[in-house]
Amino acid sequence: MQHDPTRVKPPSHLPHPRQVVADLEASRIREVANEGLGREGVLKFWFGESDEVTPAFIREAAIASLQAGETFYAHNLGLPELRDALAAYTDGLHPGRGVAHWQERLAVTSGGVNGLMLASQAIVEAGDEVVVVTPAWPNLVAQPLIMGARVKSVPLKVLASGPRAGAWALDMDALLAAITPATRMLIVNAPNNPTGWTLTAAEQRSILAHCRRTGTWILADEVYERLYFAGDTPNGAASSFLDVAEPEDRVIVAHSFSKSFLMTGWRLGWLVLPAALTAAVGKLIEYNTSCAPVFVQRAATQALLRGAEVTPALVNHLKACRDTLVPLLRGLPGVTLAEPLGGMYAFFRLEGQADCLDTAKRLVREAGLGLAPGSAFSPEAAGWLRWCFASRDRERLTQGVDRLSQWLLAQPR
Ligand code: PMP
Repeated sequence: MQHDPTRVKPPSHLPHPRQVVADLEASRIREVANEGLGREGVLKFWFGESDEVTPAFIREAAIASLQAGETFYAHNLGLPELRDALAAYTDGLHPGRGVAHWQERLAVTSGGVNGLMLASQAIVEAGDEVVVVTPAWPNLVAQPLIMGARVKSVPLKVLASGPRAGAWALDMDALLAAITPATRMLIVNAPNNPTGWTLTAAEQRSILAHCRRTGTWILADEVYERLYFAGDTPNGAASSFLDVAEPEDRVIVAHSFSKSFLMTGWRLGWLVLPAALTAAVGKLIEYNTSCAPVFVQRAATQALLRGAEVTPALVNHLKACRDTLVPLLRGLPGVTLAEPLGGMYAFFRLEGQADCLDTAKRLVREAGLGLAPGSAFSPEAAGWLRWCFASRDRERLTQGVDRLSQWLLAQPR
């Protein structure tokens, strides 16, 4: 996962970007989606988003803002009203410190992806070592590479037996052994895209204690925090590093409006930072985007204030989607999967289909079924496929499984 200096460079008279940028992989999910271009009737489960439109009251808030002429630049770190709402939201989920505490630790960003990139820009020097737990959403690896880091991956392992056979789980010894005083930052996403794996509070405490010893930053991607189905935490959400860390710990938590509020296309997220870092991230926002659009921030404020009308119903629906899809997939020959505890993906292994990029392309062409290849998320997930089950109509999931089943039957044995 490193920049490969032996790779042939383009002739020097041609314009070319930095070598690390030239070396970035094109998206394999996009490659599969391209296979579907011009094909009618493909059932698309390849991208990580719901097919549900953003709730009307959120869209109306954006329209009202535009009608009122709010078309100007705003504060780097976000509108005061949104920051207030975010502080109250954060305090509601992670009570005990008070709303004012969070206010000085927030930065509104242009999507979760921008927040994560800002974190890498703030922390990672060229040549630094960054550890990433994989399989992971490809951007989490690409961003430190862009900063010139050396990225070391620590793969999750697949449980071979027991009630959660086929589930991906953290090998804590391997992770802690990989994080040394030379490790500048650990990037970990839980609930995880694509595996549905989650971290327990005890695991978060062990990771934090180790990173305190090595002086390593933790960048926790918690954009799926609310999409959690296990029901074993006081607030219903997945356990967060914010619940176990002290305010001055080297911990940055990345969040997004995309998943919990059905706002993928709006490009809005936020970071929770140690207070000492907030001003620095504000400067970086100035040089990246200057600020998020005001009308989007007004819409997001309403999303937070009236979040009780959106997120709980969404989580219930996603749980029903998961509970529809997982047993059907398990009933197919050669499929291994464990029920995901969080997120919105079923990640399953298909026996005999080691080249999952090819399998995913064939499924588009031959079955009209659009899934993401596991190899997009790490080499060890080759042979796996990711199915985003955030479908408004659960019937589509059943139809998709029928198509996969027919396709499997037609394969030579
Ligand atoms: N982190 C993870 C793990 C994701 O899957 C995504 C979206 N696919 C993001 C962050 C970023 O989401 P957004 O930029 O839409 O906020």
